[in-house]
Amino acid sequence: MSLSVEHKDLEVLTTNSKQIQDDVLKEILTLNANTEYLKRFLDGSSDKELFKKNVPVVSYNDVKPYIERVANGEPSDVISGGTITRFVQSTGTSGGIHKIFPVNDKYIENLGYLLAVSSLITSKHFSDKVDEKGKKMAFLYNRLESKTPSGLALSSSFTSYFMSDYFKNRPSKCNSEYTSPDQVILCPDNNQSVYCHLLCGLSQREKVVGVSATFAHALIKAINALQIYWKELSSNIRSGHVSEWITDVGCNKAVSAILGGPDPELADVIEQECSHKSWEGIITRLWPKAKFIECIVTGQMAQYIPTLDFYSNKLPIVSMVYGSSESIFGVNVDPLSKPQDVSYTFLPNISYFEFLPVDHEEDMNTIVDLVDVKLGCYYETVVTSYFGLHRYLVGDILQVTGFYNNTPQFRFVRRKNIVLSVNSEATTEQDILKGMASATLVLESSNSMLTGFTCYADISSFPGHYVFYWELKAKDVDDVVEHDEKVLEECCYALEESFDALYKRLRSKEGSIGALEIKVVQQGTFDSLMEYFISKGGSVAQYKTPMCINSSETLAVLEDKVIARFYSQKSPPLNL
Ligand code: AMP
Repeated sequence: MSLSVEHKDLEVLTTNSKQIQDDVLKEILTLNANTEYLKRFLDGSSDKELFKKNVPVVSYNDVKPYIERVANGEPSDVISGGTITRFVQSTGTSGGIHKIFPVNDKYIENLGYLLAVSSLITSKHFSDKVDEKGKKMAFLYNRLESKTPSGLALSSSFTSYFMSDYFKNRPSKCNSEYTSPDQVILCPDNNQSVYCHLLCGLSQREKVVGVSATFAHALIKAINALQIYWKELSSNIRSGHVSEWITDVGCNKAVSAILGGPDPELADVIEQECSHKSWEGIITRLWPKAKFIECIVTGQMAQYIPTLDFYSNKLPIVSMVYGSSESIFGVNVDPLSKPQDVSYTFLPNISYFEFLPVDHEEDMNTIVDLVDVKLGCYYETVVTSYFGLHRYLVGDILQVTGFYNNTPQFRFVRRKNIVLSVNSEATTEQDILKGMASATLVLESSNSMLTGFTCYADISSFPGHYVFYWELKAKDVDDVVEHDEKVLEECCYALEESFDALYKRLRSKEGSIGALEIKVVQQGTFDSLMEYFISKGGSVAQYKTPMCINSSETLAVLEDKVIARFYSQKSPPLNL
């Protein structure tokens, strides 16, 4: 696979997806047929029909013992025909546990390929809107790798890519596609890297055509850092010297070279823009040639759309890639689609993909191939990878929204099994997102905006009730957040009003669910929550605020920071 991609490659891939998927499965089975794991089911065969008949659909706990044996030093062929050279670790923010997955160079190559395809598509859509070839200010982060007991590298998927030769020698590097030099991306201290990303982005402000990060959360974090550091950043630009606390030598040297020398005029502009009372549109004011924001805003990240709109004066937000530690999945071929309409076209050359219809979970015979999914239907992805996952349930629920050539496109609907429940009701991630959308509309009438949320089903007292933790920030920088009691109580009500009929009946008629509570937490709480997850092995690049909390340790991080509490003052109407 080459990392230099052309548009016609995508056309060929998506036109021939059936054949490519069959070839991928054949290749995987031939490679892995004699592993301890697969031999039990296939007895060395690489036949597709036998695979479909004999290989069970599994979840992480089923394959964990095999994965751990390899991590502990047993040979790769316990699960994988190819040599396992490293492990990638999920952030643990979507399923609650940190899973590890065996991979080798091919996984990293796939990730590089996905990013190359995505960058090809965005440049095609945005190149005519800029005068000269511009750069992206990309908030990308690295982390130190750790080791498995057998001494193999263990890291997030992005770290594995950044540490590889694929990143070092990527084709787009010769165009200097980012405002930051690689040393900033590779710096393992994320505080130093966010500062340097900002410094490089500000000093090349006229060249910035896009502002990007992996997930939306990382962009909001960067704006928070800008609010903290803008005076120091502009003083660095004024003097032409990088602050001394940037102790990462490679980073300091590379950023100093980009600064070039003193630039008092630019420093004046930055100070003028950042000292405005309101930070509305700060992105377009500081980077006037920016034409788009690029980060994932589907799924859990949808909560950050209003805040990104506020900071960017509603620049188009392009949500380009969909992947996980288990496998890369797809790319958005229509970058200008609205966040709520974003769909990802699966890349058929990455893994073998099957789909379990959501309503038929008990009947494994209903599993279909990638090219056989039906428009409008909901599925859970089942992945067979090159590195030892066979018919593995990913846990994401997707809906088919269309086809690009012959390849299906999917909307990310939700993580499976993420529900709030204090009684017999099951409030899904989708219900929560719907509720949050209407509650944040109510919040717009106040001077505050939401910078993070998560929720929890509190059953410590009877009746149990839902608790939403909200972090708020004043719209105008120097203002203090006002906790407008009336507005926040209305927000509680707006959430409850969006939940389903059973929730409303249990809450309003039977009284077996208590009034929903919003606990406002101190500013910076969601950063502490992120640091907590990172300390457990996650990475900033992959971090997603967990939508629901289910561990007491995580809850303790939040409970310590609660500064105000509000309850719904009336019961939601019953759906008749
Ligand atoms: P991790 O293995 O920690 O990188 O987490 C992977 C999970 O993040 C996926 O299974 C999805 O639940 C979520 N995810 C990744 N990309 C997207 C996306 N584009 N939209 C929504 N959710 C995503």
